[in-house]
Amino acid sequence: MSATSFPGVTVIDHPLIRVKVTQLRDAATGSADFRVRLNELATLMVFEATRDLATRPVRVRTPLAETDGATLVKPIVIAPILRAGLGLVEGMLDLLPDVSVAHIGMFRNEETRRPESYYFKAPAHLPDADVILVDPMLATGWSATAAVTQLKEAGATSVRFVCLVSCHAGVRQLSGAHPDVRIFTSALDPDLNDRAYIVPGLGDAGDRYFGTT
Ligand code: URA
Repeated sequence: MSATSFPGVTVIDHPLIRVKVTQLRDAATGSADFRVRLNELATLMVFEATRDLATRPVRVRTPLAETDGATLVKPIVIAPILRAGLGLVEGMLDLLPDVSVAHIGMFRNEETRRPESYYFKAPAHLPDADVILVDPMLATGWSATAAVTQLKEAGATSVRFVCLVSCHAGVRQLSGAHPDVRIFTSALDPDLNDRAYIVPGLGDAGDRYFGTT
């Protein structure tokens, strides 16, 4: 993992992640392969993004003896921003099968380029949980900012954000609005074009995942 010049932002730097992100970026990668790579990346990323979660000691009985072990202190909630965030859920659930999944429905108004909320559903234990907010792309940062605001209004006290590709503008927006939210990304790109797409980026993550290009 490498820190960046942006406080609170961690670029998860691992050879397998670099290779898989490269495959996702490649415009020749079709939906089927895109889905597989995205699932794999989600698993790798959630492993790194949960590195600092608190555990408490428990005793466990192996077939041979009692020994010390660990269990997580807080429950985890994965919160995808619909629709593209759904692409990261399956890979994360492979590693965290016992967690709850909140859903945050947001679409980008193409004229204002601002997010509009159409759905929000989170479990009752949200205030006690470590929430992992997920969206493959952190572009303008407005959707992520609005999603964190919704989560906090619903009682969330610990939120981290995991994305595949971020950009400077998005990181500045999210960190400026919610400095307590740590950002984990596998790539930090420099630019956002005039249609609010990350450059070089990987295109429209939702369209490529769901085959709606
Ligand atoms: N959403 C995407 O899917 N891609 C971008 O580059 C920006 C927003």
